[in-house]
Amino acid sequence: MRLTKFTDLALRAVMRLAVSEQTGPLTTREVAEAMDVPYAHMAKAITRLQHLGVLEARRGRGGGLGLTGLGRQASVGWLIRELEGQGEVVACDGDPPCPLRGACRLRRALADAQEAFYASLDALTVADLVTSPTGPVLIGLTGRRTE
Ligand code: SF4
Repeated sequence: MRLTKFTDLALRAVMRLAVSEQTGPLTTREVAEAMDVPYAHMAKAITRLQHLGVLEARRGRGGGLGLTGLGRQASVGWLIRELEGQGEVVACDGDPPCPLRGACRLRRALADAQEAFYASLDALTVADLVTSPTGPVLIGLTGRRTE
């Protein structure tokens, strides 16, 4: 199973912001630079994470992006499900649709495998993702303040 680039960017942002208590809050541009991805792509991912209630923007002096309580405790399986949406791993109903789609054992097996993939990530939290060795590396990825 392969995650979309959008999901990967969102997970990178979440991991970077999960250590922001140790480095200070970041702007969207700083997160993009720290993760070495285009600003516009990161901005879309961060907007989606805000809609999910995982991130919030704090205004004023010392403000910036940070994880919410939900974001810190979120299950990685839940987060990836939300970011990936309800799509199947194969486009059975594509254009043209597959003639087997109404009675395909492979489709059911792939759906079960997809659920098993997500379920294997359900016990993992965002906080778990930023323990050593990942956390110290993330802390070093500060980005450059350009706005
Ligand atoms: S063979 Fe089955 S899994 Fe593959 S596209 Fe057709 S319906 Fe979907």
